[in-house]
Amino acid sequence: MGERIYNFNAGPAALPLPVLEEIQSELLDFKGSGMSIMEVSHRSKWFDDVINEAIERTKRLLGLGDDFDVLFIQGGASLQFCMIPMNLSLKDRPVDYINTGTWSAKAIKEADIQGKDVHVIASSEDRNFAYIPKEYQVSKDASYLHFTSNNTIKGTQWAQFPGAGDIPLVCDMSSDIMSRPFDAKPFGLIYAGAQKNIGPSGTAMVIIRKDMLERTPDNLPSMLKYTTFSGKNSMYNTPSCIVIYTINLVLKWLEETVGGLEKMQQINGEKGSLIYDFIDQSDFYKGTADKDSRSLMNVTFRLPSEDLEKKFVAEGLKEGLGGLKGHRSVGGCRASIYNASGLDAVKALIDFMGDFEKKEG
Ligand SMILES: *Cc1c(COP(=O)(O)O)cnc(C)c1O
Repeated sequence: MGERIYNFNAGPAALPLPVLEEIQSELLDFKGSGMSIMEVSHRSKWFDDVINEAIERTKRLLGLGDDFDVLFIQGGASLQFCMIPMNLSLKDRPVDYINTGTWSAKAIKEADIQGKDVHVIASSEDRNFAYIPKEYQVSKDASYLHFTSNNTIKGTQWAQFPGAGDIPLVCDMSSDIMSRPFDAKPFGLIYAGAQKNIGPSGTAMVIIRKDMLERTPDNLPSMLKYTTFSGKNSMYNTPSCIVIYTINLVLKWLEETVGGLEKMQQINGEKGSLIYDFIDQSDFYKGTADKDSRSLMNVTFRLPSEDLEKKFVAEGLKEGLGGLKGHRSVGGCRASIYNASGLDAVKALIDFMGDFEKKEG
């Protein structure tokens, strides 16, 4: 077997090694079933236990009460861009959005397509999304306020979530869910494509406050209604069994090995300090995000030239550091250091960055 690399991919992204090993160990015979989890019926007790455990773990980790439902919906975060305005916009009332980059813009586009009264109440587009806006006025009668907690491509993150009074918050947490604890009370809906921080691609986790379910109009196709998924424990049709199974193992790792979200936040904070302190003391590497808006999940930076950036990415891979190329829309370099990337990965990256600077700087 070849050696595993330090994986800095943005998504699909690194999974915790103990999770992969657990999958391997029970792949041929899942809990005495004589089958893999990919082969058992989703109507079996085996899978029922898996999905219920994943839901319970989500609720425990995030401190969610019984007023929230946890759903698993295929179509990734991108389908949620469309389902949210479809299900949650109220008649003759606007939907508020904050635009902090590519993914926010895609969410806005889907609400626009549906002819919703979209109010973009703040944007950081004027400086290429290098910061999180501080000033915004929520529409008094907004159906909800949508924002993106972590901007995977631009490398920015909300340190403190926006406040909207009684207006429910709706948040795309694809790239930082489970990276830190937070108060879920102001949220009407939270969603996350699984492939960044909690599992493989193929499913979005959707956390919805139950009163929001009353907003779903009757005349939507069944598969586009949140009520369909909540009424059938996300099994109206065949769910993505292997993805939900892996999510459950990642959440188990978070609870039992890491020790919960406070601990995870502390580790992520240490990782972030290490890498950003290193970038700040260097004249060779330049962070692209404003200091007060930096992401602890996606570290975006530039080198003095595009040629050096190319060389950096290629040599990194040779040294066993994968995925350091920035998103194709922005260029530069990006190290995604989600929960599964430990301090060891960040230290290896800093060592490599130091060596590369000495050689090329
Ligand atoms: C990756 C990503 C998406 C898109 O997710 P899909 O599951 O591919 O649809 C949306 N929002 C954010 C913040 C992301 O990082």
